Amino acid sequence: MPVHKAKQPPRRIGYGFDSHEFRRGVPLKIGGVAIEHAQGLGGHSDGDVLLHAITDALLGAIAAPDIGALFPPSDPQWKGADSLVFLNEARKRVHAAGYAVANVDASLILAAPKIGPHAAAIRARVAQALRLPRNCVGLKAKTPEGLNLENAAIAQVVALLEKRPAAKQGRRKTRRRKRT
Ligand SMILES: [Zn+2]
Repeated sequence: MPVHKAKQPPRRIGYGFDSHEFRRGVPLKIGGVAIEHAQGLGGHSDGDVLLHAITDALLGAIAAPDIGALFPPSDPQWKGADSLVFLNEARKRVHAAGYAVANVDASLILAAPKIGPHAAAIRARVAQALRLPRNCVGLKAKTPEGLNLENAAIAQVVALLEKRPAAKQGRRKTRRRKRT
């Protein structure tokens, strides 16, 4: 797709929101990490609420169609799908648009299980999927105080994109070489 890169802003921000209902007999997956719990998150794919919100944040940042438009729940090929597939597609679209992910920050809102013991693994998995250092993936977990949402998991994510350096787009390679 032809894009006028000169007119592209140097940075873009994206925001993603998702929620899923807890359901018995489903494995729980958050941020690409399998978590031992009595219930998992329902949904057409693997129900990974965090990866869905990150995917939408990336797609939103480049004003691309959202996750539901790209991977419609009505399409049987996404039944039980690994949500890392969605995230990877979003990352590729970000790259194709001339940007790189600078950092992401997420809030998870859920009554149980406790995310603390899994936070490091989740951050590492998301960082790996986005080709980011771990200190560029923020994760906070909150319980839904006063919201009466004990049976839901909610994720909210912001993502910052930066225009990729000209060198990485095949121009002015010499400057980069001097530094190394
Ligand atoms: Zn979802």
